[in-house]
Amino acid sequence: MSEGAVKKEEKPRKFQAIRGTRDLLPPETAVWNRVEQTAHEVFGTFGFAEIRPPIFELTELFARSIGSDTDIVSKEMFAFEDRPSELSPPGPNEIPDDYTEAIQKSMDGGLIPSTPSNKRTVAAMRQKLAELHAAEDKRETQEVENAYLWWAFELQDLKLGDALALRPEATASVCRAYVEHGMQQLPQPVKLYYMGPMFRRERPQKGRYRQFYQIGAEVLGGSDAPAIDAEVIEMVMTFFDRLELQGVQLDLNSIGCRECRPKYVELLRAELVKVKDNLGADSQRRIETNPLRVLDSKLETEQGIIATLPRIADHLCDDCKTHYAAVKHQLEMRGVIYRENWRLVRGLDYYMRTTFEITAQGLGSQNAVCGGGRYDGLVELLGGPATKGIGFAIGEDRLILSLQESGKAAVQQGRDVYIAWMGEHARATAIRAAKDLRKAGFSVELPPVELKFGKALGQADKLGAKYALILGDNEVAEGLWTLKTLADGSQAKFTEPELLEHLRKQKALSS
Ligand code: AMP
Repeated sequence: MSEGAVKKEEKPRKFQAIRGTRDLLPPETAVWNRVEQTAHEVFGTFGFAEIRPPIFELTELFARSIGSDTDIVSKEMFAFEDRPSELSPPGPNEIPDDYTEAIQKSMDGGLIPSTPSNKRTVAAMRQKLAELHAAEDKRETQEVENAYLWWAFELQDLKLGDALALRPEATASVCRAYVEHGMQQLPQPVKLYYMGPMFRRERPQKGRYRQFYQIGAEVLGGSDAPAIDAEVIEMVMTFFDRLELQGVQLDLNSIGCRECRPKYVELLRAELVKVKDNLGADSQRRIETNPLRVLDSKLETEQGIIATLPRIADHLCDDCKTHYAAVKHQLEMRGVIYRENWRLVRGLDYYMRTTFEITAQGLGSQNAVCGGGRYDGLVELLGGPATKGIGFAIGEDRLILSLQESGKAAVQQGRDVYIAWMGEHARATAIRAAKDLRKAGFSVELPPVELKFGKALGQADKLGAKYALILGDNEVAEGLWTLKTLADGSQAKFTEPELLEHLRKQKALSS
């Protein structure tokens, strides 16, 4: 078989989006834009400004802030070493001299860190290579092998690059940025919001993706006034209200502080140990690792037991009790309806005191659209000054899913005007008309090649255009343009300025 024939048979591979990721396509992207635009507007009215942190950071930033025992950090991060691709670990046929020199070159070129430790390691590797060659000259096979093993052993000490991870959430980045840019010098509190993709290696299902999007906000500064907590929650609720999100339910809890929470956790652990045999495997494990998470359990058989466990509200210290009562009062003053939920504990380590979660309808088991809470001390943990903080993250994918399920995701589609033109004179006029109409803010479809009027009108229909502007030689000669309203088929003639005026009026009427 000739080479050409083989090629013909080989079908090029078709690619698909990676599991847990997806393409957001039109017309749905218009809903995403509307949601994001509404966030910009609503958050702006509360005095928040946008921050755009990078998509990847040092893995350690997330490990430190989210907690290395959490599922996110221990199992779900997309982590990688930032090393030049030509320095992937040496293969079995790799010549160690070449590899050592490649490392030296990369260090000189700044591709891998030129640290004292790395320099020492390369020197040691060179030393082992010298021993290897000496042994080769003497044909001492065992010695050659040993020297090679020592060379490989030294290599392990080399730090080729930083350990990085795609962000699983953005609070850590915002706090890092607060410290890095000395934002404590700005008028406090600093109010920031963000939106963008996050990455977690979770098991994909409806409403749960490996690349998903969050819209979130953080308030950082010196004060932990309960009014700040209440206003942040009021802002999310206002946003949801503006989007007409249906079945919104706000759950609220206080999970105490460094003083009272550990005591409660110990008490909870002691009680859980007593009923250990009646719990499922996950909860049994969590008695040791994170007893609070047992309260999260959805397991039917555990519900009766959980109902009898001690509740944190009865074990808050006086400061936390006062703070929690004031947050609730402040929410009531703002007309925000909440439900107290003593079992609401958030998965991430950094939360304290106020925690909240918002659910919406139409989402099945993954019905949380927003989670948030207070995290005083997180900025300090990241090397910054003592700072109070509170924030939330909305799952944008789920928010949009819920809007779609409840029929609140309608977006205007189609074009305002389709220009049906025929003839060379009409082409020039059509180009000019398209320019003027677009300048006036109308969406215009201008077919690139001449079409018979019948075909053009069919296209206009398919594209959902409101109007067809018909430009033939007659229209151009008379200076009177025909506008056809596609919904009812009616036609009228206009001069150019009249036409613009007419379309403007109709647009104003329909909006
Ligand atoms: P968290 O950062 O875990 O507090 O999550 C905040 C919100 O982000 C949740 O309430 C969800 O709406 C959303 N979310 C978290 N993980 C995912 C995921 N894997 N896929 C889609 N949305 C998610």
